[in-house]
Amino acid sequence: MTADRSRGATSGTPLPDGAVAIPVDLGARSYDVLIGAGLLARANEFIGNRLGAAKCVIVTDENVAQRHLAPLETALQRLGRHAGTRILPPGEATKSFGALSSLCEWMLETGLERGGLVIALGGGVIGDLAGFAASIVRRGVGFVQIPTSLLAQVDSSVGGKTGINTPQGKNLVGTFHQPSLVLADTALLATLPAREFRAGYVEAAKFGLLGDAQFFGWLEQNYRAVLAHDPAALARLVGTSVAGKAAIVARDETETGDRMLLNLGHTFGHAVEAWAGYSQRLLHGEAVAIGICLAFELCTELGLIDAAIAQRVAAHFAAVGVPTHIADVPGAETPDAATLVKIMGQDKKVRDGKLTLILVRGIGKAFVSRDVSTETVHDFLARQLGDKSA
Ligand code: NAD
Repeated sequence: MTADRSRGATSGTPLPDGAVAIPVDLGARSYDVLIGAGLLARANEFIGNRLGAAKCVIVTDENVAQRHLAPLETALQRLGRHAGTRILPPGEATKSFGALSSLCEWMLETGLERGGLVIALGGGVIGDLAGFAASIVRRGVGFVQIPTSLLAQVDSSVGGKTGINTPQGKNLVGTFHQPSLVLADTALLATLPAREFRAGYVEAAKFGLLGDAQFFGWLEQNYRAVLAHDPAALARLVGTSVAGKAAIVARDETETGDRMLLNLGHTFGHAVEAWAGYSQRLLHGEAVAIGICLAFELCTELGLIDAAIAQRVAAHFAAVGVPTHIADVPGAETPDAATLVKIMGQDKKVRDGKLTLILVRGIGKAFVSRDVSTETVHDFLARQLGDKSA
């Protein structure tokens, strides 16, 4: 199924049963993100014409398999091409070289051919790992994303970034490998733990904060409906976020320009996440919430925005129930500024030894900056940490 691109990315093309298709326009590698409740059980309808005569495999994690694997396997059995399912342990530790190599070997053992498909059923961890494997097995096989976490539906399943973590940092090894289809079934979010849901919400809010002030205003008015899983509110949240990401990815697929805006809050956030040890202590989206609040605070100090704007952003995240400051991270100790700046120096966004920061001139007005010195960032963080411990 191909969306009617004349209808524009923001509203999406309506499909039967209330679903919408949002196109990601990348020339020969264009694909649709289908968003709607109940798509999983109909996966065969969408995947069949992408498969030809080849086989497909499913990669998922234990939590997701328990709740959502059966309908997908049943749907694929209708196609008669399901070669196997790999169920991995949940969590960030699964994005590792060890998991990648055994996954690739398993794919080869199933007989997955060049024309075959890897179907990632899960959150961002499964999407990033399975996408990486799909990009290197037989020098690249097809890939379909079925995101099951809110973070994956609004962000990580779209845009083709794949990767794993190493002791040197997160996502430092990976590829760009676009999926040929993304099926975002919003009904799957019903089983997502509430804390994971809120962490995913942060990545959706990020799209408003970086480029769509109206969307952020809508979130401020409607976040309770989103948190209550109101179907219409969820559809709008996912649809607007995907359209925002699709537009940016279409302009800058490999992150040499505009795509960097998606890292709003991520340079600070990744540093805090690394310091906290990539654990349940601090989820990725929670770290991003802290990072976004720090980025807005820094912009206040730099005279780019009024303090009231940073306060408005922090107030919204606090109302949603995510941490807004490093001091909110559970555990006795806090990091020092030098530790965080050192971790930030390892970030992929460092060019010629200079930090790349995403700053704002207001809500929805983000821009890329390489002008802020490491010393300025260090002193800012020292004040932030000192302020809270005083
Ligand atoms: P995740 O994949 O670990 O999922 C979070 C938890 O929710 C896991 O325990 C998972 O088993 C569980 N879960 C997922 N869907 C569920 C469901 N429907 N019901 C019950 N449990 C469910 O983490 P995430 O937050 O989805 O993704 C984070 C990862 O995404 C990070 O590794 C991050 O680096 C990556 N990421 C990638 C991109 C990209 O562009 N590729 C963008 C943002 C984040």
